[in-house]
Amino acid sequence: MIDKIGQRCTGCYACVSACPKQCIRMVEDKEGFWYPRIDPAACVKCNLCEKACPVLSPLENRRTREDVAAYALIHRDEDVRRKSSSGGAFSALASAVLRQGGVVFGAAFDENFEVRHIAVTEEKELDRLRGSKYVQSRIGDCYVQAKQCLDAGRLVYFSGTACQTSGLLGFLGKDYPNLLTQDLICHGVPSPMAWRKYVQLRERLARAKTERVFFRDKAHGWKNWHLRMDFRDGSFYELSQFKHPYIIAYLRGICSRPCCYACDFKDRYRLADFTLADLWGVDNLLPGINDDKGVSLLLVNSGKAAAFLEKISASVRLYPLDFDAAVKENGALVASETHNPNREAFLKELRRRPFDVVAGKYQGEYTLERRLRWFARRALGNKRYEKIFHN
Ligand SMILES: Cc1cc2nc3c(=O)[nH]c(=O)nc-3n(C[C@H](O)[C@H](O)[C@H](O)COP(=O)(O)OP(=O)(O)OC[C@H]3O[C@@H](n4cnc5c(N)ncnc54)[C@H](O)[C@@H]3O)c2cc1C
Repeated sequence: MIDKIGQRCTGCYACVSACPKQCIRMVEDKEGFWYPRIDPAACVKCNLCEKACPVLSPLENRRTREDVAAYALIHRDEDVRRKSSSGGAFSALASAVLRQGGVVFGAAFDENFEVRHIAVTEEKELDRLRGSKYVQSRIGDCYVQAKQCLDAGRLVYFSGTACQTSGLLGFLGKDYPNLLTQDLICHGVPSPMAWRKYVQLRERLARAKTERVFFRDKAHGWKNWHLRMDFRDGSFYELSQFKHPYIIAYLRGICSRPCCYACDFKDRYRLADFTLADLWGVDNLLPGINDDKGVSLLLVNSGKAAAFLEKISASVRLYPLDFDAAVKENGALVASETHNPNREAFLKELRRRPFDVVAGKYQGEYTLERRLRWFARRALGNKRYEKIFHN
């Protein structure tokens, strides 16, 4: 039974989408993550939920080094690039799909600033999908909607974390020539409850409701990105990622989904057609091009993806990279985040107490030493860093 999957569940909604009796629903647990719950009276034990689950029925991945290629990408439209987390790779691909009359699925804020996947068919709506939201996104009925579009012959571009794109493929059960999937190099997905508590805190302090959130505001640069919240009374609050308690909590592995600490979808050669990330190693890989406005790492994992590249060539600057060198700079492609020993206590206490109180108790200061270590890790790459500082 799918609801016995336990903490390996990614909450991707493949089981909910596949159930012919609609007898599975997602229920939020005490940490704020949703898990499937079956209505045993309605279940006919057809097992379609387990067959669709990308954890219980892993999809075969035959990709090898020969199938993949890596590029640095910079969107030519500076406004689009500014609003994107890295270099705007997502926007370039999504716009090309929309120009062909296609549908784009990705993560957006809803009216309560919770994150959920939506479908977009017009260029002006792409703004809602642009930018990373460091909170787990709820798929809802997007797999079912995507299947309807695919069956109708429309081009579909599905963007999400690797567990979400695998969930879609598991649910579909077959590849479609008119489907492009795109995943991310993902640190992990934080608890929606932790984010909700953080928004509550800020709204209480601002005495105003949230108007907009930019997780990766680049006004102070791509590397020193700030989380910025604008409020309805015209005020705003922003803080650098290096000092921000929510981002520190996230990057220290204190509030991610349990499955993220042993992610089943980390792989050098991904199942999705494209993989996007920040090209953090840009100074080593392409000295001279980094203007601190953002560069994307674009991994092209399939022939279908390689053929589509030509459709974005006019809107971007593309620089071919050595695949091995490029991915060496981004350890999260293959490595899961480290479980913080305080994680369970942090989330338990967060249910009852305000975010700042609990974060203060468990985080301590983000010291100069920590910041220097962060820069050293970025400059040296994970392996060299570990060798130098931990030997
Ligand atoms: C939770 C998360 C963790 C990440 N961890 C890393 C990392 O460790 N290292 C790294 O190099 N890059 C990481 N990234 C990717 C990085 O932040 C950028 O998203 C990526 O470089 C693409 O940027 P862009 O400029 O092309 O487009 P953007 O416009 O910034 O990309 C937006 C795309 O990301 C999708 N997206 C946004 N939030 C979510 C979400 N919560 N769940 C699913 N999809 C989402 C949107 O649907 C949209 O398709 C992470 C992204 C997310 C969402």
